[in-house]
Amino acid sequence: SRQFTRPLNDLANQFNTLLSAIAGAERVFDILDEELEAKDELEAKAIDTINGDVEYKHVSFSYEKGGNTIKDVSFQVKAGQSVAFVGPTGAGKTTIINLLSRFYDPDTGEILIDGMNSTTITRDSLRQKMGFVLQDSYLFQASIKENIRYGKLDATDEEVINAAKQANAHSFIMKLPNQYDTVLKQDGSGISQGQKQLLSIARAILANPSILILDEATSSIDTVTEMRIQEALQRLMQGRTSFIIAHRLNTIERADQIIVLNEGEIVEKGTHESLLSEKGNYHNLFYSQFNKQVM
Ligand code: ADP
Repeated sequence: SRQFTRPLNDLANQFNTLLSAIAGAERVFDILDEELEAKDELEAKAIDTINGDVEYKHVSFSYEKGGNTIKDVSFQVKAGQSVAFVGPTGAGKTTIINLLSRFYDPDTGEILIDGMNSTTITRDSLRQKMGFVLQDSYLFQASIKENIRYGKLDATDEEVINAAKQANAHSFIMKLPNQYDTVLKQDGSGISQGQKQLLSIARAILANPSILILDEATSSIDTVTEMRIQEALQRLMQGRTSFIIAHRLNTIERADQIIVLNEGEIVEKGTHESLLSEKGNYHNLFYSQFNKQVM
């Protein structure tokens, strides 16, 4: 959604800054970035590695004073497990995820990452450990190879190609006129929506993050590409803590934990089976939204 895009556009700007730096250009955007971004607390420390244990403890947050966007949200995700957020538009799914990457911090309550309060971790070092696969893939006017390499700037060509293979992107890349050296247009036009996603999955595989943020595409993608994406995502999610704004039934069913949100509050949490048997919100959502797909 729109609110999510803003911080993530900032991220894209940061990538562009990196690109300029690589190209030897002046890093003029640094100043802009610093103004966009809150300063880290003096006591905040950079982290080198994380396992990916995450716990939200009575987290409340609002964008405006006196508001109530997220209310007393508590849940726990063990390292390597996945959590899918479901609920109507405006329920707070995006906001909960923006809090994890410290685009905002909780007003009250805390988010523990490997037991550390997230506000004691510098934003940059935290985001270094996070991978983003979003509805809009951030692709740049550069070759396919360089676009994937954004995941890990010192990656060798071999590592780039391996990541593309794991992301099921290699075969379509090899059919492009200049293969890995094909230069994408500014907005990534020239390749399909689904192919863009495969590239962003390849980039995330190369980055090897401990925590994965996945905002599933709502747009329809042809069945074959969709299957490739699903398979690549399963591979990417393996062994990483995954926060998913899920739209596909398949993804929701497979999640280790489903959190059902409404108006900023958790109304239910559990697995697909446990929530179905509760016959509550999730059960209703499931049968109203997905019955055509299961029958
Ligand atoms: P979801 O991802 O479930 O659609 P969001 O987390 O995007 O929900 O939004 C939760 C609520 O917060 C909505 O009422 C939305 O309008 C509001 N909201 C989101 N971003 C902002 C923002 N930057 N400023 C003010 N209100 C916002």
